Amino acid sequence: MAPITNGAPAPKKRIAVMTSGGDSPGMNGSVRAVVRMAIDRGCEAYCVYEGYEGLVQGGDLIRQAQWEDVRGWLSEGGTLIGTARCKAFTERPGRLKAAKNMIDNGINALVICGGDGSLTGADTFRGEWPSLLEELVKNGDISTEQQKTFQYLNIVGLVGSIDNDFADTDATIGCYSSLGRICEAVDYIDATAFSHQRAFVVEVMGRHCGWLALMAGVSTGADFILIPESPPDRDWEDQMCDIISRHRKLGKRKTIVIVAEGAHDLDLNRISPTKVKDLLSTRLRLDTRITTLGHVQRGGNACAYDRQLSTLQGVEAVNAVLEATPETPSKFIAIIENKIVRNPLIEAVKSTQEVAEAIKAKDFKRALDLRGPEFAEYHKAYMMTTATDQPALRLPKEIHMNIAIIHVGAPAGGMNSATRAAVAYCLSRGHTPIAIHNGFPGLVRHHADEPLGSVRYVQWLDVEGWISKGGSEIGTNRDLPSKVGMGETADCFNIYKFDALFIIGGFEAFTALSELRKARPDYPAFRIPMMLLPATISNNVPGTEYSVGSDTCLNALTSYCDAIKQSASASRRRIFVVETQGGRSGYIATMAGLGIGAVAVYTPEEGINLQMLARDIEHLKQSFAKDKGQTRAGKLILCNEHASDTYTTEVIANMIREESKGRFESRFAIPGHVQQGGTPSPMDRVRAVRLAVKCIEAIEEYAGKTKEEIMEDDLSMAVIGIKGASVVFGSMERLEREETNWNHRRPKDESWLQFKKTVDTLSGRPRPEDCCVGCGKIR
Ligand code: ADP
Repeated sequence: MAPITNGAPAPKKRIAVMTSGGDSPGMNGSVRAVVRMAIDRGCEAYCVYEGYEGLVQGGDLIRQAQWEDVRGWLSEGGTLIGTARCKAFTERPGRLKAAKNMIDNGINALVICGGDGSLTGADTFRGEWPSLLEELVKNGDISTEQQKTFQYLNIVGLVGSIDNDFADTDATIGCYSSLGRICEAVDYIDATAFSHQRAFVVEVMGRHCGWLALMAGVSTGADFILIPESPPDRDWEDQMCDIISRHRKLGKRKTIVIVAEGAHDLDLNRISPTKVKDLLSTRLRLDTRITTLGHVQRGGNACAYDRQLSTLQGVEAVNAVLEATPETPSKFIAIIENKIVRNPLIEAVKSTQEVAEAIKAKDFKRALDLRGPEFAEYHKAYMMTTATDQPALRLPKEIHMNIAIIHVGAPAGGMNSATRAAVAYCLSRGHTPIAIHNGFPGLVRHHADEPLGSVRYVQWLDVEGWISKGGSEIGTNRDLPSKVGMGETADCFNIYKFDALFIIGGFEAFTALSELRKARPDYPAFRIPMMLLPATISNNVPGTEYSVGSDTCLNALTSYCDAIKQSASASRRRIFVVETQGGRSGYIATMAGLGIGAVAVYTPEEGINLQMLARDIEHLKQSFAKDKGQTRAGKLILCNEHASDTYTTEVIANMIREESKGRFESRFAIPGHVQQGGTPSPMDRVRAVRLAVKCIEAIEEYAGKTKEEIMEDDLSMAVIGIKGASVVFGSMERLEREETNWNHRRPKDESWLQFKKTVDTLSGRPRPEDCCVGCGKIR
């Protein structure tokens, strides 16, 4: 169907998109986004097939793409426009042919989704462009007029790579999907390792980059990792054996060592999985096996995060193309924490190459620095939460604290991972971690004299296996301190001599912390540092743009929708209306809509009205009328459970059926608690670990301070959050006062709202201005 443009003047541009180098999950999402966004912005979209090979060969390998051509691509793995390694493009004659083919096809801008090799090639191509054009004129291949028209090469990079090895971005398209495959495999291996008390050495991809190995280590609780940027000390063999035998003595039945493909020692001698296996079997007499994951790490469809990332970055790439001036240096689209930004391509290519050079020169500190602060933080978090008996990390006895940990509200993936990390960190620093079971009701029914009461001192082995566990191992409850009694709660804080509280939960946890803050003047027991780590599938906690658990939920919802979409497409003319959770926040409905390409998303923020429904139904009618069966992709509408009291999911599905007059079918589906997900996603696990460590670090700042000093410090009660490009602590007092929409239990300002428009644009959903008032007819 014809896209509905927003009426902006159409810059007559031809934008081509290609995928190059190693394929990665999510590449199709970026092609879809570039094609549709380009068309929406009044440009013509082209696809270059088979990477640079297509650019060099031209002909049929460069073709115009229509809106319909990319339908259903979000849920497909690999790259549907093909990729190749192209030797010809690495040499000038090849690039000369590529330049000629671009001009022959009238292409003014090129979006390249690929790894560091592909983007290095793109950078070279742009640098040479004026001289390539001169040569083409000299050879009589193009006219001077053409030379003038195409004098500036407009290139934008998208980083598609499973290795996450590109500088100046926190994540590359595909890396979290790949990490997901690895975690899934290690979780399976874990079970058999536990049963037989075996050791496993798992080799993962990454010749120059240890991101996958590091993150797999963090998210599976591996005993030891070996990565190229930070080789182990000279006595690493003893160290590794020490750590593993200590873990075994503590009662651990399994051992996992993760080795990056490019792992080496300080002298750059390769550390192979076989070497590690031999050590474990000869020195420690462990029954040890090697698992090489290989291409499994590339396979399969993209996880929810990669679908969002590829889509949002594809949209941004088109914006960057359209806003570029001859003076603008080439950009690539990056993500820093939660913010999508444009960064200079040349510098990033240089920094990426510098990592390999620094490793070659044995300057490992520089290699780690070049990987950026996020990488370094994960590395530190891994080191601090893996081996708890590290004398160098221990704090002096007089500042050891009793740190209570509590879960409040509904369970969310990553709650246990955060708890495990907090406990491990506390133990390595000498603090006493205390788990409060079953929330505040558990605390006041503590049964102090029972060995298995609700307030328990925790040992490392208790939590060691929790990293991959869904739900809440210590039990969670939504009752607030005011319900169980403020006085009783304060009494328990006194009885157990809590010096600090670490709360993990969603809006309920936020409300609980607010109550404790307001009760501080009356109850000295609450004048202790308290940090909240937002964990809820709804992602509706003020002070953060990301809550632990929301990624797990989006993965569960995306898989559910993929399955439903398949059923919808098998019977061809069917639309499903899927009801999502999310409280009074449309976050998960919108982000899932972005990841599956929903026809429409209904949120509580926007509500639902009759005109909107009429427009959407008309759109569906038109789209089914035009569908001659060339595409089998099913259609979905996502509807948050609180979007409207009147137009419920069932009502909407019935209205669509009634209006379709038998031309297509409509059903509704309610995934319900499936959305809490089973095992937490790798992103939720790693972020839970990193943020939990930061929370306990923040708590430590108050060690030795008086209650008055703590009371005076606004940040002594805070929420940790990811906001834009930063991780920040927001003071409860300020968040309650300025950023909370108490009526609707969500932040006043929801940063993701901007993405709603993107979902609509990319699904071609009609806008109010495109329709006649009342009748819903699309102009
Ligand atoms: P990735 O993009 O995944 O890192 P490669 O390193 O294989 O994968 O690069 C993909 C393609 O990009 C190569 O086959 C080649 O055509 C092109 N390329 C890579 N490096 C350069 C370079 N320095 N100059 C020109 N083209 C290059």
